[in-house]
Amino acid sequence: MTGHHLCIIVGANRGFGREIALTYASTITTKKNVKLSLVLIGRNREQLRSTAQSIENDSVHVSTVANFDLGNIDNLDENIGAVSSAIEELIKSNTFSKSILINNAGTLGDLSVTVKDYNWKEAKRHLDVNVTSFVALCSMFLKLIPVSSTNQRVIVNISSLYATQPCAYWGTYCMTKAARDQLIGVIALEEEGNNTKTLNYAPGPLDNEMQALVRNTIGDDDQREKLREGFEKGQLVNMSDSAKKLVNLILSDSYESGSHVDFYDI
Ligand code: NAP
Repeated sequence: MTGHHLCIIVGANRGFGREIALTYASTITTKKNVKLSLVLIGRNREQLRSTAQSIENDSVHVSTVANFDLGNIDNLDENIGAVSSAIEELIKSNTFSKSILINNAGTLGDLSVTVKDYNWKEAKRHLDVNVTSFVALCSMFLKLIPVSSTNQRVIVNISSLYATQPCAYWGTYCMTKAARDQLIGVIALEEEGNNTKTLNYAPGPLDNEMQALVRNTIGDDDQREKLREGFEKGQLVNMSDSAKKLVNLILSDSYESGSHVDFYDI
């Protein structure tokens, strides 16, 4: 493997997004003749900086874009503008062989109630964070990175089993993940022949803060019991194991464009 990769990660300050950044960087560092420019996006400036500091070395350069609240639709154009400027700076001074956008950021929505008791304003906020901003980021990436036979474009959606399977109490989560998966499938069709690939990657039930929040807030007694049992028996997936599978998929190019790949499938 040779060349220079550009990798933009949304929601890179903590959790799985941070783990993807660490894994991508450490994988590139072990290879000869490959460089990586990472653009880490999130809300928390300090967390982004600390991630950047733990990653940077001779082969890996990191830029950060902070204060990007995906739910703040009034500021979405401004925030997308800040990300575009950071990417444009990098494009001006580098020639990339692979450019990747990883849409990782995500929220659960209210898992304590069923659809009958939804507050539509909260549901809309959930859609804004997980779908509206996702659309804006995908469009930005496709416009900003020119089609080129020497620079492969890749868009990754961090998906979930619940994109493909409905589950009670997970209404807006299932809905937003399914919507994202479909957009990724559409982009695969629209950009076919443009040296562009897309991927929905379901990382498995991760042993992290989001799973702890699920265990503590899910309104369904049976699910809560099963989730607690799984956690206590150590059945959750290590974030680093899942990030390694995703980075290997991206680097080996061993997936069908527009497909949904689950941690347990590979
Ligand atoms: P997490 O620890 O809760 O991290 C969520 C990430 O999304 C954080 O970086 C968070 O940033 C960001 N985010 C949330 N709301 C945001 C907003 N309004 N604006 C900007 N950023 C926002 O969860 P995770 O497990 O790492 O989740 C990563 C992805 O994996 C999500 O898409 C999730 O649905 C998916 N996934 C997770 C699991 C699991 O078991 N954890 C399973 C399947 C799929 P802040 O720090 O600023 O909140």
